[in-house]
Amino acid sequence: MHGRRIGDIEVRRILEMEGPFRTPSDTFADATDEAMAPHLSWMEPHALCPDTGKLIFTFQSYLVRSRHHTILIDTCIGCDKTIPYFPEWHERRDRAWLANLAAAGVEPEGIDYVFCSHLHVDHCGWNTSLVDGRWLPTFPNAKYVFAKDEYEASAAADTPVFRESVLPVMEAGQAQLVATDFALDDEIWLQSTPGHTAGHVAVNLSSNGRGAVMSGDLIHSPVQCLHPDWSPRFDSDKDLAARTRRRFLEENSESDRLVLTAHFPSPSIGQVVAKDDAFRFLYEE
Ligand SMILES: [Zn+2]
Repeated sequence: MHGRRIGDIEVRRILEMEGPFRTPSDTFADATDEAMAPHLSWMEPHALCPDTGKLIFTFQSYLVRSRHHTILIDTCIGCDKTIPYFPEWHERRDRAWLANLAAAGVEPEGIDYVFCSHLHVDHCGWNTSLVDGRWLPTFPNAKYVFAKDEYEASAAADTPVFRESVLPVMEAGQAQLVATDFALDDEIWLQSTPGHTAGHVAVNLSSNGRGAVMSGDLIHSPVQCLHPDWSPRFDSDKDLAARTRRRFLEENSESDRLVLTAHFPSPSIGQVVAKDDAFRFLYEE
């Protein structure tokens, strides 16, 4: 996967997997057959699998190299994690994601910051690796930047995600809890985008007059550009998520900022443009 430049920043996707995930109606309560009918012609086969009827999802990280930093935004699903409610993700052994990172020229030791848009299983999995029965940070030299609100909600839920992929980072002294508008420097900063989870953040990049923003899970499928009010069943506050999504699409349709999505099918990156009272997503290879 080739890198692309945002001014002096290089951005590259590190893919863990891509394929049919869930049907539209399993994902969005509003996505009835009738509501989906007008979209089949533009969504199939790229964004909607005609054989299974499921939306195509990517699971990926973004590797960001600025003059000063080598950063990962989100860390996918990972290996050996306890995810019994999703058998394909449960105790995975497939380490292709690490190989893809190496193919981009980066070893785990070379990462100096890890950002997580939020702390769900498919966004913080490679935060840690199981070594001799213990969960250790996969990136030994990295600071892991977590929004404090997100960390606290994850700690309160105390699920295996927290115990396997988040707490060990804190215990290793590598976590940095920050506000949802934290700025690492004048090129990289967080933006509060709540709804999917309480402490969800988007990650903004800017260099030499160019901009990009990694959306995390404030949006999951390009069909939501046309239906910004379609909040997936897994958004924790669906009304707030819909308001956040519409505002995000509006502000990006009024700029030439590149949107780096978490789950849209490859190439996953593009621009938002206004269309009628909603939006469209124009992919950029
Ligand atoms: Zn996700």
